[in-house]
Amino acid sequence: MALTPEPPHASKRGTGALGAAVAQKEKSGPQRALEKLGLRRDIDFALHLPMRYEDETRLVAISSLRDGSIAQVEGVVSDCEVQARGRRQLVVRLRDVSGGSGGSGGSGGSGGSQGSHELVLRFLHFYPSHQKALARGNRVRVRGEARGGFFGLEMVHPVFKVVTEGAPLPTALTPVYPTSAQLPQLYLRKAVAAQLARTDLTELLPREAVPDAMLSLRDALNFLHHPPADVSIETLEDRSHPAWQRLKFEELLAQQLSQLQAKRERELQRAPRFVLRPQGLQDRLLAALPFTLTEAQRRVGDEIASDLQGKPRGEVAGMPTTVPMHRLLQGDVGSGKTVVAALAAAIAIEAGWQCALMAPTEILAEQHLRKLVGWLAPLGITVAWLTGSRKGKARSKMLELVASGEAALVVGTHAVIQEQVQFAKLGLAIVDEQHRFGVQQRLALRDKLRSGGIEPHTLMMSATPIPRTLAMTLFADLDVSTIDTLPPGRTPIVTKLFADAKREAVIARVRDAAAQGRQVYWVCPLIDESEALDLQNATATHQHLSGALPGHVVGLLHGRMPGAEKAAVMARFNAGQMAVLVSTTVIEVGVDVPNASLMVIEHAERFGLSQLHQLRGRVGRGTAASVCVLLYTAPLSETGKARLKAMLETGDGFEIARRDLEIRGPGEFLGARQSGAPLLRFADLTLDEALVHAARAAATLLLDQYPQVAVDHVVRWLGGRSEYLKA
Ligand code: ADP
Ligand code: MG
Repeated sequence: MALTPEPPHASKRGTGALGAAVAQKEKSGPQRALEKLGLRRDIDFALHLPMRYEDETRLVAISSLRDGSIAQVEGVVSDCEVQARGRRQLVVRLRDVSGGSGGSGGSGGSGGSQGSHELVLRFLHFYPSHQKALARGNRVRVRGEARGGFFGLEMVHPVFKVVTEGAPLPTALTPVYPTSAQLPQLYLRKAVAAQLARTDLTELLPREAVPDAMLSLRDALNFLHHPPADVSIETLEDRSHPAWQRLKFEELLAQQLSQLQAKRERELQRAPRFVLRPQGLQDRLLAALPFTLTEAQRRVGDEIASDLQGKPRGEVAGMPTTVPMHRLLQGDVGSGKTVVAALAAAIAIEAGWQCALMAPTEILAEQHLRKLVGWLAPLGITVAWLTGSRKGKARSKMLELVASGEAALVVGTHAVIQEQVQFAKLGLAIVDEQHRFGVQQRLALRDKLRSGGIEPHTLMMSATPIPRTLAMTLFADLDVSTIDTLPPGRTPIVTKLFADAKREAVIARVRDAAAQGRQVYWVCPLIDESEALDLQNATATHQHLSGALPGHVVGLLHGRMPGAEKAAVMARFNAGQMAVLVSTTVIEVGVDVPNASLMVIEHAERFGLSQLHQLRGRVGRGTAASVCVLLYTAPLSETGKARLKAMLETGDGFEIARRDLEIRGPGEFLGARQSGAPLLRFADLTLDEALVHAARAAATLLLDQYPQVAVDHVVRWLGGRSEYLKA
């Protein structure tokens, strides 16, 4: 099917040569391009599914073509000439010979408006091979979009091939695959067809594992690569067709299997078993807190405590052990996760083990440090503090404290702890904002922390609540605890949307708030000169606000400032000595100033939804009524609109997360992009919840009764990628 005009270097290659090139694994250009697309094993090709289809199974009479219709016609070339007038181009005239048979449903037209029997083909780029193929008298099949031109209907750069009279039409739709610039569609199409034919697609799954009435994998794949002409293209493209259901089920099953397997492996591992003593460190901490725990905090605290004191599982080196905790603590911004973490740390420390608390950024780590030191130091706990900016003597002293075991609690950025710290006796690792870490980082961390047959317990904390389906799918091996209420005394935040033209009115509000002794955050998108020039950078905004707010201190905080300077600015804002803090997103997480009751987010349309929600969570922490102003610059993109609408309509982190998932898709949601491996290619978690449940049931069945099938299935689907899913 040589319907694509071929570049000269490829023009003489036949199917045989292509097939051989694929088979021999010689690293030709296309071969490398295939590998770049992840196409290595036979099954990779079989699973490389079309993104759309072209219907080449029907011919339409030239006379019935309409402006704008995409169709295939057949005709005889009546003229072929290179025009040099204006831009050099090849102009071909094609006369109808199809006799109008098998035309499209709308053929014929109304009344006497019968179309012309001639079609012009226009090529602005062409090779001598075009002129040869399109020589006068040749019969050609042409597919493209018909447009009304000066001389009647024409097609610009249609695909074409020379045919003999009566040449059969394809019976299946023609697949169009996702590809790259280095890989011609035609080459890829042939490669996929060849590999599909030789891939071993034997049914691996026992009948009882597959939901009733699902196609076999082989049938599903053959169907999707070469669907019959009468199928509804829509059900293929929106992936609701039964063939797609089987594929999605298979994919979800592989994922559930590898996760459940990871969970079972973890159940074989051993972590120290802590015993909670009455009147111990945890009770003393509770007694010293300036507030009482919310119901939700108490509940999740109990869930964590019962993991840490888990069922006895024998001894390792004379120490009582249990199954390692692997728990995600999720709760909206401001829901009070830190104190829950501190209570968990108290259990580990009381039992004579160390606890590490890791945060993705220095500012966030420092916020934790301040809280934890405030709570735990008075109880006699030594805390070590480790970040990138702490160097030299101070750092080596801290490292010593950790290595000797004198520091019971270690707080710092993830990178530093992962790379440089030797623990004496690590029993509990708490990772804040875990979704911000790449999968690779999480795997590396696990390897790092394991020592002498003992694993530490892990508690991951996230302020981005994960919708239930997603948690089930992507974190099937995690236990989840959720703080679902905010501490009492919070006033709901009112969110308002203003066009950037209303800026001065917004500044007037800032002035009022400052005059009342309230504090204000003003958030700007990141400073990056290489990015769009129209970005209001934080420095300019800072100057402008300083001028507009005489008598008030306006501070500036951005990512490029040295750590010490950042800390000094934060300290002044924390202490209430600064009315307005202009900042880039460095304040996104962790900042906690109850007196701040107004937040302005500039160019709100440029932030992600969960980021906006996190930012908004910085206000509304005290008793004053708080306001979040979203400033936007038109025109808004569709996703930009959807995000701002969600912000106006809800303040509930779970609802926000659900909408974020809808807007962005799960890969990006989880930061999976960082790992380079999209976790789900076919299933859509917002639509395929039922399949997730089916896959989960099947995964349990396979692991219990058909362990070898489970292994074979995971290898078929994930190959070397399965390790990622355990992170
Ligand atoms: P996040 O879940 O976003 O990490 P934090 O742990 O920073 O939230 O808590 C937000 C604020 O609420 C902190 O100032 C914290 O001390 C306070 N807080 C936590 N729990 C309670 C509670 N039960 N009652 C009152 N204030 C609380
Ligand atoms: Mg927090």
